[in-house]
Amino acid sequence: MFIFDAHLDLSMNALEWNRDLTRPIREIRRREHGQTDKADRGRGTVCLPELRRGNIGLVVATQIGRYAKPTHPLGGWHSPEQAWAMTQGQLAWYRAMEEAGEMVQVKDRAGLEKHLEFWGAGDPLTPTRERESSSRKPIGYILSLEGADSIVTLKHLERSFEQGLRAVGPAHYGPGTYAFGTDSEGSIGARGRELLKEMDRLGLILDATHLCDTSFREAMDVFAGPVWASHSNARALTPHNRQFDGQQLKELFRRGAVIGAPLDAWMMIPNWIRGQTTPEATGVTLEKMVEHIDYICQLAGNVRHSGIGTDLDGGFGREQCPADLDTIADLQRLPELFRTRGYKEPDIEAILHGNFIRFLREAWKQLA
Ligand SMILES: [Zn+2]
Repeated sequence: MFIFDAHLDLSMNALEWNRDLTRPIREIRRREHGQTDKADRGRGTVCLPELRRGNIGLVVATQIGRYAKPTHPLGGWHSPEQAWAMTQGQLAWYRAMEEAGEMVQVKDRAGLEKHLEFWGAGDPLTPTRERESSSRKPIGYILSLEGADSIVTLKHLERSFEQGLRAVGPAHYGPGTYAFGTDSEGSIGARGRELLKEMDRLGLILDATHLCDTSFREAMDVFAGPVWASHSNARALTPHNRQFDGQQLKELFRRGAVIGAPLDAWMMIPNWIRGQTTPEATGVTLEKMVEHIDYICQLAGNVRHSGIGTDLDGGFGREQCPADLDTIADLQRLPELFRTRGYKEPDIEAILHGNFIRFLREAWKQLA
């Protein structure tokens, strides 16, 4: 089954983790043997060949560069200009992947339809062209910005839009320039309001993931355009400000949002301690993701608002993801897990790709 993943940090892995994502996963892991600078060294689960193997032909891929004032609780670039330069470097990597035929940027309706047709998505009965040339099929990517600190001025946002940027999450972790993110609390302020209005004008999608409760409320009031949540779970199942409470989820349903379910274990089960808790000890498996998605579907009363947003390369690897997942290609086990739970085929397809694709068709109606 064709799969849409609404959240991967591919370029961050290429440039900050120094991973050549065109290589097989075993080779990427092997080259990291003995390295300890990142928690997930030697345990990565994402690369382009594994995306192809898992029939994950379309992803939302981020640019990410945090600006950290001296008082910021987490690290980051010391000026917005450095953060901007980082995201431009990340874009340069995506462009290099395009030139190499490894990836293709999807930024409008025409490009979306062409890409889906190429992958044979949407009609599982038709033999796809993929079967003929599966080895090097380009992975489609929709460019997204996780945390907007790197947007130095609104002109930079317009420039990014021209580069193909189609979704923006104003916040990430901690206090940001345009919104407060996970583990912080505060107003979007005048700059956040300006950013959201400019996003509206340009036709960008608002990614609600990572917005703190106050910033979420304000962003919903200010922003009139399409909203999604690329990688978020429900607070009812995993009590933490990083996830959405019932009111927020219902607000997202009202806005027509699709919510991507992540596979970062600390967001899937309560009381996870990073670096200590293990997937094996807690028994967290892909079935847990199905539970989260089922919860969202029950709350919405339909299957239209659930999708996949794995975040599988977001600074963690096998040490912090479902125990029965070796690489991202294992997402192909999801259809069977949903069937076992009684989900019908059209509903499974909606969750695995259909909802996000419908969302994009709608959101991009007005784009040229
Ligand atoms: Zn994130």
